[in-house]
Amino acid sequence: MRLSFIQVSSSRLGASAKCPACGTGALLSFNWELARTSEQPRRDVSAFVHPRQLRYGVLYECVACSQPWYLCGEPQVMNAVAPERLSLIDRWFQRWQTRA
Ligand SMILES: [Zn+2]
Repeated sequence: MRLSFIQVSSSRLGASAKCPACGTGALLSFNWELARTSEQPRRDVSAFVHPRQLRYGVLYECVACSQPWYLCGEPQVMNAVAPERLSLIDRWFQRWQTRA
């Protein structure tokens, strides 16, 4: 067994995924680079569509359930966005866009 100190993903213990495509409900975040490049764990990143470039990071949504996901950081981590936080991100994005 090989131990890794790179955080691969974080999940809600005991919860089951509401969406099989993105894993929302159980999955909270995962390492985007690892998901795209490694065979283990295998994750289908094609479920994440409609990237919107924000000032910091990129907002995606799940092709199956429209759950918003926010990609940011170094290394890049994809985070499930709580629905109540989406309007905040939207407002922030629009303000940034009108200023640019
Ligand atoms: Zn989904």
